Amino acid sequence: MIDDMLRTPEAIRDAERWTAHNYHPLPVVVSSAEGSWLTDVDGRRYLDCLAGYSALNFGHRHPTLIAAAHAQLDRLTLTSRAFIHDQFADFCRELAELCRKDLVLPMNTGAEAVETGIKVARKWGYQVKGVAPGQANIVVAEGNFHGRTTTIVSFSTDPDARADFGPYTPGFTVVPYGDLAALAAAIDENTVAVLLEPIQGEQGVVVPPEGYLPGVRRVCTERNVLFIADEIQSGLGRTGDTFACDHEGVTPDMYLLGKALGGGIVPVSAVAANVDVLGVLRPGQHGSTFGGNPLACAVATEVVRLLATGEFQRRSTELGARLHAGLRSLVGRGLLAVRGRGLWAGLDIDPTLMSGREACERLAERGVLAKDTHGATIRLAPPLVITEEEIDHAVAQLAAVLAG
Ligand SMILES: *Cc1c(COP(=O)(O)O)cnc(C)c1O
Repeated sequence: MIDDMLRTPEAIRDAERWTAHNYHPLPVVVSSAEGSWLTDVDGRRYLDCLAGYSALNFGHRHPTLIAAAHAQLDRLTLTSRAFIHDQFADFCRELAELCRKDLVLPMNTGAEAVETGIKVARKWGYQVKGVAPGQANIVVAEGNFHGRTTTIVSFSTDPDARADFGPYTPGFTVVPYGDLAALAAAIDENTVAVLLEPIQGEQGVVVPPEGYLPGVRRVCTERNVLFIADEIQSGLGRTGDTFACDHEGVTPDMYLLGKALGGGIVPVSAVAANVDVLGVLRPGQHGSTFGGNPLACAVATEVVRLLATGEFQRRSTELGARLHAGLRSLVGRGLLAVRGRGLWAGLDIDPTLMSGREACERLAERGVLAKDTHGATIRLAPPLVITEEEIDHAVAQLAAVLAG
């Protein structure tokens, strides 16, 4: 009888009735959140171990970010890029400095940053490298996830993401991820860029072999090809460094950023590169009505300042070590393998025990929210503000789920 009084079942029914079924959410209806914790419409609390796929690296409603958003809402929210607003220059300069690049180009969603990177690389190829008109190609990796636009799904290797969305955009060559020889062999005189995630998040937090990223850097330099690092999920503190590429001392020609850049408040994405690359764009050749709007810039500037302290990268390294130690102790006790870096982990559950989906449903019943990806794999990416006790709690709940 008590169930009849819960608001959750009705809210789930309504959500399913009125939306396209392009997601399969866990049966939780969230109504508020703070830090690492969510509260549902019935007052139950959940530890957030997904953090909006890393859009919430600073936790829910980080006070500094919320204050910046509130203050900006009371002054100015939108101008379009037709005019310059007073939040724009600080954001672009501080983000460029964080990236150690000359220029940034702000957009909104991650997919738009990827599209921007593709357009800039092609234009650079024709105008700077001298590729024959219409012949540019870009080398990408199997198992990639770069977003959902028609061009981006054209070079996806996930049948769900790609099938029946053709005709597909040409000009992409797919090679196995982590295989430097295959990548080098795929580059020809018309190759303008290599586009990679330094760690493949959606694929299950797949870390490439040591030396792969420096190898990609070297090959790209030798062959006069741009190295575009999609750090939309891996960047901004998630792996214990500002960028996942930092771990191997690699500097790409172009960073693609998104997710956490918006502080969990507004969609903010950006491309960062030097003037020899981003300088190919002239007025009218690319743009976005909302990209770099005052509210986005006000929030994202504070995100960049939080990252500039180094505190979140440090937390991710230290707490990540604790998370990975805890998870490793479950290998052979329901887990087959654990991968990742910093506060980011991909777990392969023994598929004879349960699916990733089932494990996430049982975790949710125990007050921990995580997300499965591809069968029996679960991704953990808690907010970087999570505490040691909360990590131990999440690992204990996972252990209980795996123990049946
Ligand atoms: C999420 C993601 C994207 C796409 O970002 P959206 O904001 O969903 O468009 C692109 N690349 C990577 C690596 C991502 O994780």
